[in-house]
Amino acid sequence: MAVQQNKKSRSRKGMRRSHDHAKMPNVIYCGCGEPTLSHGVCPSCGNYKNVLVKPKKVKQSKA
Ligand SMILES: [Zn+2]
Repeated sequence: MAVQQNKKSRSRKGMRRSHDHAKMPNVIYCGCGEPTLSHGVCPSCGNYKNVLVKPKKVKQSKA
C-alpha cells in the first residue's frame, strides 16, 4: 500500500480539490429556442445543426 511521505497542508488539499468539481454541461440554444446540449440532437424538435434528423414520434393506434 502506498503511504504518503509528508502531510499535505490544508492549503495544498484545497489546491488539489479545486479541480474536483463537476463540469457544467455545454448548453447551446437550438433554432427552436430550446436549450440543448452542443453536439447533440435537440430533444424538443429533433434538429441537429438546423437539420431535422429525428422526426417527432407520431402515435399510431393499432387498427
Ligand atoms: Zn430544437
